[in-house]
Amino acid sequence: MVNLLNFNQPQLAQWFGEQGEKPFRAKQLMRWMHHFGVHDFAQMTDIAKNLREKLSAETEIKLPDVQLEQVSNDGTRKWLIGADTANSIETVFIPEDDRGTLCISSQVGCALECTFCSTGRQGFNRNLSVAEIIGQLAIANRSLRAESGYDMLPLNDRIISNVVMMGMGEPLANYDNVVTAMQIMLDDSAYGLSRRRVTLSTSGMVPAMDRLKEDCPVALAVSLHAPNDALRDVIVPINKKYPLKELMAACNRYLVKAPRDFVTFEYVMLDNVNDTVEHAYQLLETVKGVNCKFNLIPFNPFPNSGYETSKPSHIRVFRDILMQAGYVVTVRKTRGEDIDAACGQLAGKVLDKTKRSSKRIPIEAVE
Ligand code: SAH
Ligand code: SF4
Repeated sequence: MVNLLNFNQPQLAQWFGEQGEKPFRAKQLMRWMHHFGVHDFAQMTDIAKNLREKLSAETEIKLPDVQLEQVSNDGTRKWLIGADTANSIETVFIPEDDRGTLCISSQVGCALECTFCSTGRQGFNRNLSVAEIIGQLAIANRSLRAESGYDMLPLNDRIISNVVMMGMGEPLANYDNVVTAMQIMLDDSAYGLSRRRVTLSTSGMVPAMDRLKEDCPVALAVSLHAPNDALRDVIVPINKKYPLKELMAACNRYLVKAPRDFVTFEYVMLDNVNDTVEHAYQLLETVKGVNCKFNLIPFNPFPNSGYETSKPSHIRVFRDILMQAGYVVTVRKTRGEDIDAACGQLAGKVLDKTKRSSKRIPIEAVE
């Protein structure tokens, strides 16, 4: 059965056209499904009864299953969402004074094997469908609205004001589905989020960054984590394919079309690995010529990671060097640690199909 959550508005209009229906039905349906969160065709009162009957006979609006919802002491929430019987992914909501941010997953596992990332350590199973990606927003919205008593209100009084594609997986390795899901997030008939409030984080898949700036330019975060190629080759292995110089050039090309005039460089602080004074000065050289901000992320440990979090005093020194050079630098506050919802701790349940113990999968295979 066709799951209508897999379509953006133009695709839905085309589908209606193919069914001999008026394409404007797509807008009505997007509003019901996404804006109002109504998934029962019988309640879609402005759609003719015979069309509603046809839709319920031939299509479905199907969200993935919620297996577990956890709330942290600090208000952070995490949903464990079933991708299929063997696999699950995680979605995290982070409330702050001035915004509410939902961190969405794009794949079951990740093939890119960054050494400090728990998702990357688990291997790769599959890409998420559009319905599974946008479904995370729908599930979180439903739950947060029910909680706040705003059950019947449309989304304009937003609890979720920002989305970051920073959960499990490399979003640009699941390009088509991620772009379609982000188009739904931006669509005024659906979630109507501003491009500036949707951020995609990538480990640096250069050709896909070039496509994204044309297809769906949203705010961009790039996981840098190392100031030179020798170190980045080891901790972010995709660097062997797209080294720093190419990555910096791609960032500048992206900025021509981006909704914000800076790229955010994420930099995980690993004790004694990438956090020295020398690394900080090297980093300044590496990013020269790119309009950027820095987000330093204290490493979030997970079992057998082999890494430790940088000492707070080292993080301060590192931050001050970047700030003195004139950059805006934030140090990410760890949220939801008690429910393992912090950055890089999202594990879900990944049945690894890559058999990485016997064979490393080539980076080409994920493009
Ligand atoms: N694949 C994308 C997005 C998901 S990861 C990417 O790599 O950008 C989101 C962010 O969390 C990335 O910057 C990632 O490097 C960082 N991260 C991964 N593991 C981490 C850990 N254990 N501690 C802190 N940050 C981590
Ligand atoms: Fe994949 Fe991002 Fe983790 Fe690297 S940091 S393994 S790209 S999810």
